[in-house]
Parts: sequence; C-alpha cells; structure tokens
Amino acid sequence: ALRGRGLDVHLFQRSGHVLQPFGEAVADRVEPELTAQGVTVHTATPVEALCGDDRIEAISYDGGRQPVDLAVVGVGITPNTGVVADTDIELGAGGAIATDKFGQTSRPDVYAAGDCATAHHTVTGEDTWMPLGLTANRGGRAIGSTVAGNPEPVGDIAGTAVVKAFDLECGRVGLIDDEAAREAGFEPVRKTITAESRSGYYPGGAETDVTLVADRETGRLLGGAIVGADRAAVRINTLATALNEEMGVAEVERLDLAYAPPFSPVWDPILVAAKVLRGSIQ
Ligand SMILES: Cc1cc2nc3c(=O)[nH]c(=O)nc-3n(C[C@H](O)[C@H](O)[C@H](O)COP(=O)(O)OP(=O)(O)OC[C@H]3O[C@@H](n4cnc5c(N)ncnc54)[C@H](O)[C@@H]3O)c2cc1C
Repeated sequence: ALRGRGLDVHLFQRSGHVLQPFGEAVADRVEPELTAQGVTVHTATPVEALCGDDRIEAISYDGGRQPVDLAVVGVGITPNTGVVADTDIELGAGGAIATDKFGQTSRPDVYAAGDCATAHHTVTGEDTWMPLGLTANRGGRAIGSTVAGNPEPVGDIAGTAVVKAFDLECGRVGLIDDEAAREAGFEPVRKTITAESRSGYYPGGAETDVTLVADRETGRLLGGAIVGADRAAVRINTLATALNEEMGVAEVERLDLAYAPPFSPVWDPILVAAKVLRGSIQ
C-alpha cells in the first residue's frame, strides 16, 4: 500500500530473513520480490531507536541512521490476560490462559477462547499459543455449544497462515522449523521443489515452490510452506487437512488432487513435493 502511494519504503528485520514463520524457502522468494517492487530490505538489522522530539524524524540501527517521516512498528504481540490477573486461573503456553480441549480453564465455570487462550497443537500434541482468526471464531462457537449443554471440542491448531507480498502468495502450516520439530521429538527431513502452478502450455501459470517437512523415522508429515504468484496460498489447505489426519508423506503423495490445465498440472505441486520427499526418506 505504501509503495503504491509512491513512498520510499525501508523494511527493517531483526532476524536473518523476512517472514520467519514461513521458513527460508519462502523468504528466499519474497525478499527479491520486495526489492524488485522498490522496498529496501534490511535483514539481520535490529532497530535501536525511534528518533525525534515532537515527531519521528529517523530510526537508528547498528551502524546507521535512516531519516523517516513515518514508522509502522510490528514487533510481535502478547496475550492480554489482564481480565484474569487477580484470579487463580492458570496461565499456559506463551503466557495465555491455559485451556483444555473444550476451552475450559483451570476454574471449571470459566472458559476462554481466542488470542487470550492456549490451544492444542495438531502436530506436537502440546499446548501452544497461536493467535489467529479462525481459532478465535471456532473456539467461541464451540464454547457456546458446550456451556449450553452440547459439549463440542474447540479443535486443534496447526498454525495455518497465508500472506501476500505484492504479487507473491505465501502459506505455511505445521512444524517447518527444524529446531521446533526436534524439540517435539521428531527427526525432520525437508525438501523444497519448484513446479508449475498450471499445465505448462496453459497461460497464467507461475513457478510455485513447495517445502515439505516429515519425520525421518515414521514418514509422518510435520509441516509445509508454499510460495508462488498463481493462487499458491490456498494450496496450503491441502497440507492443513493432511496434518489433521496425521498423514504420512506417502499418503499425501497418493491424494486424489484435482487436475485440469487452468488450475493445476497433472501432478499438483504438493504431490510433486511429496514424491521427492518420500524418495529422500526411503
Ligand atoms: C492487523 C491484523 C490483521 C490480522 N490478520 C489476520 C489474518 O489475516 N488471519 C488470521 O487468522 N488472523 C489475523 N489476525 C488475528 C485475528 O484478528 C485475531 O486472532 C482475532 O481477532 C482474535 O479474536 P479474539 O476475539 O480473541 O480477540 P479480539 O478480536 O481482539 O477481540 C477481543 C475483544 O475483547 C475486548 N476486551 C478486551 N478486554 C476486555 C475487557 N476487560 N472487558 C470487555 N471486553 C474486553 C476488546 O476490546 C476486543 O473487542 C489479524 C490481527 C490484526 C491485528
């Protein structure tokens, strides 16, 4: 939006890549896209201070100072649990209100859902805190049903997320970080492939990168990420469904995904990625 208005945009990122939750393979596509669109990307560059008296005039960072007229700050969020601060209701992952699979807190007549509450991770089976819109809506509905006498679980969360960087669409789900996968007791193996989004002869296709991560010992799919300019993001929902069913990579490879030239090649990019990953696990 800012580039569209002709502003000179600088993006400062503390970590080595943008979009860290989406993994390096996605960042490797997004960073050049941002640069090509006129954004100056400063990775591994923590901002030290916002400078100015009456209004912001510059930001300072290690070894530099960038004059600015406007700063948009996005440095993460924490759960707002103030409403239970003076109670004995227990907190859990990420400092959010600890809940069970029905959204019940440690006090039986109090339920919590959404950004203030923990959720159950689809892959690790552990409590986690991932503040996302569907989780909040789904939790609210389920709790309404439960307290009205029809117990309904709030559902697990796999961290399914999509984002757009100019014309590039990105998606991520599950465990795509090796360290997180090891912490959860898995031995992660990963593969990234590049495939066409449509049949090669059909106009409008684009290169789509799919990363899949699986457990070496069991072959279970742990997570995935996707990036591309042609309707790439929603393809992540296939992987979200596979994770929910605890599928192995071989099962993903055998999924009956739709093929017709305007929408997908015969082998959907996700099937190609599963085939390649399975080959490296065997
Ligand atoms: C800019 C932005 C973009 C986002 N985009 C996406 C997206 O694309 N996809 C996605 O999945 N998620 C997205 N999210 C996250 C998503 O919006 C949240 O996960 C979701 O709104 C959480 O719902 P909630 O009901 O838990 O909290 P909220 O929507 O924050 O609602 C909480 C409400 O409680 C009120 N409140 C707080 N304290 C009290 C109190 N003591 N008494 C009474 N009321 C109180 C607040 O005023 C607020 O109205 C985005 C968030 C932001 C900020």
